[in-house]
Amino acid sequence: MNEAILPGATLGVLGGGQLGRMFTLAARRMGYRINVFAPEDDTPAGQIAYREFRAPYSDLEAVRRFASEVAVVTFEFENIPSETVAAAADLAPVRPDGTLLHTTQHRLREKRALAAAGVPTVRFVAIEGAEDLERAAREVSGPGILKTAAWGYDGKGQVRVNRPDALASAWAEIGHAPAVLEAVAPFEREISVVGVRGLDGSIALYEPIENLHVDHILDVSISPARIDERTARRAKEIARTLLEAWAVVGVVCFELFDLGDGELVVNEVAPRPHNSGHLTVDAHLTSQFEQQVRAVCGLPLGSTDAVSPAVMVNLLGDLWAEGEPDWAAACAHPGVQLHLYGKVEARPGRKMGHLTAVAPTVEEAARLAHGARAALTATPDRQLAGVD
Ligand code: ADP
Ligand code: MG
Repeated sequence: MNEAILPGATLGVLGGGQLGRMFTLAARRMGYRINVFAPEDDTPAGQIAYREFRAPYSDLEAVRRFASEVAVVTFEFENIPSETVAAAADLAPVRPDGTLLHTTQHRLREKRALAAAGVPTVRFVAIEGAEDLERAAREVSGPGILKTAAWGYDGKGQVRVNRPDALASAWAEIGHAPAVLEAVAPFEREISVVGVRGLDGSIALYEPIENLHVDHILDVSISPARIDERTARRAKEIARTLLEAWAVVGVVCFELFDLGDGELVVNEVAPRPHNSGHLTVDAHLTSQFEQQVRAVCGLPLGSTDAVSPAVMVNLLGDLWAEGEPDWAAACAHPGVQLHLYGKVEARPGRKMGHLTAVAPTVEEAARLAHGARAALTATPDRQLAGVD
C-alpha cells in the first residue's frame, strides 16, 4: 500500500469553482488544508481555501510554486492546459493523472478511448477539416448535434443540426473548429454513474442518478434513477470497466443515455466530481467530494450507500432576473438544503447554487425541491411537470 497523505497535510486544487469549493469543504472537515490555484480572484473555492494562488494557468512558475507547497494536486475544472498539469506533476503527484484529463478534454480522444475499452457511444463522425463534411452529413443523415471537440461545457460549443444541408453553416458557427457530429440519441432518459477508484485499485460506485437537462444544462438530478435493476447493473458495469481500464485514481462521472431495453451508451466522461453527484452531500453516507479527498490521499474509500432518496435542482443565474432570490422562503421547506457557491455576479446560465431535497420517495423529494425553488422567485417551476 502506498503511503497515505493524512489529515493535517495541504492539498492543492487547480481551478476555483464550486466543485473545488465543495471538495475544500469536505477536505477541511477531515482536517486537511487546501490551497487553490485559479486565474480569478475571490473564487468559490478560494474563498474558503487556506491559500489562494491567483495566476493564469500559463504561468508555469506560479504553478510550480503552488505545487511545491502541497502533498498532492487535483483539479476541479476540466479545461486546465496539459502544460500546467505537467508543471505541477514535476513537484507533486497529480490525481487523477494528466493522461485522463488530456483524454477527456477532447471529445474525439474521449470517444476513441471509450471505444478502445469496448464501451459504446452515440454514433458520431469526426470533423477535422472541410473534406469531412460530406461524409459526416451522409453518415449522420437524421438530426444531429455538432460539438466542438475541445473546450465545451454546459452546452457551450454545441449546435443542433436538423438537416444535413445545415451542417456547413453549423460548422461555420463554431468557427470551423475541430468537432464531432453526433446523431441525436433517442434516449428514454439520461443517467450518470459517479464512481471512484482508490490508490490501491479499490472501486466504489454510487447507484445511478437520473438527470434532466434544459437547454443542454443540467437542471434536475434524481436519486435513485427510475430504472430497472438490469439497467442499473449495466451502468455500473460500464463505470467499473472504465475506471479499471484507465487505472483512475479519483472520482469520475460517466454520463449515459438510456436507450431502453437495458441498452446504454456513454455520452461523456468527467474526470472529477460532477453536478449530478452534488446530492451525495446530503443524501449519502460519503459524498463524492469526500471520496475525491480519500482517493487522492490514498485513504480507503467510503460507503456509497444512500441514506435517503433525493432530488437536486440547480440554481442558475437566471433566477436573479428580478433581483435577489428569496432565500428565507426556500429555507422554509423542511427537508431542503440550500447550497450557494459564493459567486458575486449572476449571469443567465451560470451555476450559482443548488437545492437538495431528501424524502422517503423521489416523487416527494421532487415536490419539495421544486416547491423550494419556486418559492425563491414566486414563479411556477418550469420542470415541475417533468418529474412529478
Ligand atoms: P456538455 O459538455 O455541455 O455537458 P454534453 O455532450 O453532455 O455536453 O451535452 C449536454 C446535453 O445535451 C446532454 O446531457 C444531453 O441532454 C444533450 N445531448 C448532447 N448530445 C446529445 C446527443 N447526441 N443526443 C441527444 N442529446 C444530446
Ligand atoms: Mg455533459
